[in-house]
Order: sequence, then C-alpha cells, then structure tokens
Amino acid sequence: MKRSILFILPFIFLFSCDKDGSLNFFSLEQDRQFGEQVKEEIAASGEYNIMSRSAYPEAYQNIDRITNSILNSGAVTHRDDFNWEVFLIDDDVLNAFATPGVKLYVYTGLIKYLDNEDQLAGVMGHEIAHSDRRHSTDALTRQYGVQLLLEFTLGENQQLLKDIAGSIASLQYSRSNESEADATSVEYLGSTIYNCAGAAGFFEKLLAEGNSGGVPEFLSTHPNPDNRVEDIYAKADEENCSTELSNSDSQYQAFKNSLP
Ligand SMILES: [Zn+2]
Repeated sequence: MKRSILFILPFIFLFSCDKDGSLNFFSLEQDRQFGEQVKEEIAASGEYNIMSRSAYPEAYQNIDRITNSILNSGAVTHRDDFNWEVFLIDDDVLNAFATPGVKLYVYTGLIKYLDNEDQLAGVMGHEIAHSDRRHSTDALTRQYGVQLLLEFTLGENQQLLKDIAGSIASLQYSRSNESEADATSVEYLGSTIYNCAGAAGFFEKLLAEGNSGGVPEFLSTHPNPDNRVEDIYAKADEENCSTELSNSDSQYQAFKNSLP
C-alpha cells in the first residue's frame, strides 16, 4: 500500500494544467531542465553539425533577429518562462526542430531553400508554437511513456537522454498539434513585420516544385499540405493580419551568403 502511494505521488505533482486547459505531464521548470539537458547531449553527441557562434557571427545575427522578432511579438505565452536559444545546423536537410524549454535548431538546407524571410519566419513560428504550447512534451510522452520520462527528469536514465537527442529532429506530433502550430504561427507573425501567412509560403513552394525528398517535421502528411495552406490563409483572414511580404530580400540574401 505504502509503495503504491509513493509511486503515484510524483505523478500528481508533475501533472499541471496548461493555459489552454490541456493536461501536461511536465512542469515549466522540467521543460527548462529538459531543454538544457538535450542541448548538452546534442552538442556532445556529434550527430548534428552545429555551427559555432564565434565562427559564424553574421549568420547568428540574422537568425537571432528573426527569432527575436517572433519572441517579442507579444503573442508568445512562455516568452519569459523559458531560456530560448537558437542554433544553426550545417546540413542540406529541409528541417527545423525545437526542444521543450526551449532550444530551436534550424538547418542551413532549409534557409537556403526558402525564398524570403517571411517563409522562414513562418516555419520558425510553427516550431516556436510546438514548444510554447508544450506539444513537444506531449509528443515525447506519447513516444517514450510517462515512466521513462520520469526517470529522465530524475536524471536516472542517460541512455534515454541519448535516444531523445538522437530522435528529436523527427519527433512526431499529433494532427491537432500540427494544425495548432500552423495557426499559432499566424498569430505570432501578425504582430511582426512578416507576412502572417509565411508558413503557407513554404508549403506552396514545396507543392509547386513537387518536392519528393525527405518529409520534414513541419510537412508531416497530417493534415496534408494543401489543407494546411488553406487553413493558414483562413486563419490569416480571421486574424485580419497582413499577408504582404516584408521588404527583407537584401537582408535574407546576406543571411544566405553568410552560411557555409
Ligand atoms: Zn510541426
């Protein structure tokens, strides 16, 4: 009897209702710790070709500028609760991902592929939303299970840390989380200089070019890309936000030129 109570107690304290009323297994502090641990493991693993800030100061000035524009939009719920950091990965992959707590990772392949900052800001908004709305801890719980993650947060499972660091770039979110991240990206960008439907621009480009390469996280097949474009524009209409391109062509070209 005693044993079962001890087993249950941590779960009661760990569950917290988020602002949107959904039940989240992690506390905000655990999200933060999680982000720091995964960042360290990603840096140590050598699996990701992380660009150093000292070697590429101009590239980081650019990605920081875009990230901060979204973080300072006034629409990010946990702007001040998390230690937001962004990293560039030198790799051809069309991808970006985020950890809880929050560390953002953007691949140079994605930046080079996109036509303008508005599209990149749209994808960044989508990734920021997954962590800000705390989808990432939901997805990790589905993938690894509550008990395993409990061991992780207690620092008892180093192998799990390695597994998570190795797979977080391809974390599978639920369909409703994907839709919410797209819609939230529109809300964030609505208070920035960017086209609030920037994320749609990215999908349109992929669809127009019939890209058949690897499917990046934010282009997961549910909901399908056509529907996502429609939904993003519908959300932009609802928000009545600007879908004009920001005038940042020369800045974006300089950003691309600063990459390896
Ligand atoms: Zn996503």
